[in-house]
Order: sequence, then structure tokens, then C-alpha cells
Amino acid sequence: MGTTTYPRVGGHPAFDLVDTVHWRLDDTRAIDTLVDFDAVLDWCAEIDLIDRDAVASTAPDVAAAEHTAIIALREAVYEAVFEDSPDAAALIAREHIEALSRSSLERDDVRWRWHPPADPTGPRTAIAFLAHDLLTSDLRSARRCGDEACGWVYLDTSPRHNRIWCTAAGCGNRNRVKRHHARSRT
Ligand SMILES: [Zn+2]
Repeated sequence: MGTTTYPRVGGHPAFDLVDTVHWRLDDTRAIDTLVDFDAVLDWCAEIDLIDRDAVASTAPDVAAAEHTAIIALREAVYEAVFEDSPDAAALIAREHIEALSRSSLERDDVRWRWHPPADPTGPRTAIAFLAHDLLTSDLRSARRCGDEACGWVYLDTSPRHNRIWCTAAGCGNRNRVKRHHARSRT
């Protein structure tokens, strides 16, 4: 904790959540870094999403159920945005409605803001808000990394809307090297 271990290339926290799966497009290499509820809490803490103390003593069976539901939400974000899945959108709609019913609207210095409950459903609630926020925003700049296996997703906010890679140093560089070798072989 405290150090950045999760990628932040998505341009929206709901895409950062999708990007907790590495090598999504290659079944033999895919790694899900959100292995359990604790990992979800680490991820939430990294982006200041919830108060970790509020969920500190979650019972194991509750934690397991919340973890499963959060992974389903994450996959629904990917499927709704990149596969236009109505089932995925319906799941997010359901979770969003439930999230609203569990939350309270509270005034801060700037505005009224939805606050997730300080209980084990807090992370799922906050993530449901993120997912709904992303889905109902302008998705024309939603992209998937050009690498054939990577599968990281992001909002392309580059001035010319021509961002091909999740990261220039990672997938960008590796694919440029690969292409260079392919060219020099022929
Ligand atoms: Zn990539």
C-alpha cells in the first residue's frame, strides 16, 4: 500500500479498474490483479475512493461475495463499452440503482455529493457510481490498446485522437521493436 501498483492509464477510474486485468486478450497470459476483496480495497485506497477503515472487519463470506460482484461490475464495464453488451449495461444499471438506494446525498464545500455507505458494500457502491458515470459519458474516445494481447483500455484525449497504445514506453515500444525486426527479416 502507498506505492502505485495499479495502472492509471485509463483516463477514467472505471477504465483504470478494467485495466487491473493484464493481457486480457490472451487467455494463456491473462492476469487478474484483483485477486480478493483486500486487493479491491488496495485499489480503492490508491484512488481515494473509499475510507478503508469503514470496511476493515468484513466477514470472509461477505468479502468473497462483494469481491465476486465487483469483478462482475468490472467485466460489465468492458463488455458494455467494447462489446455493446445490453446484459452488461443492465447489470451496471441494476448496481447503480442499488448504489443510489444505499447512499446518502451530502453537501460539501462545492456541491451535493453521493456518499457510499460505511460498510462492506461501500467499495461496490462507489464502483457502481464510477461505472455508471463512464457509461453515460461520451464514449467516442474509448479505445483499446493496439497490442494484440494487452487489452488495456483508455479514453484517448490526445489532441489528434491518434493514441494507439496504453503506454508509449510499454506496448508502444515493444510493438515498434517487433515491427522493426519483422521488417528487417524480409
Ligand atoms: Zn497495451
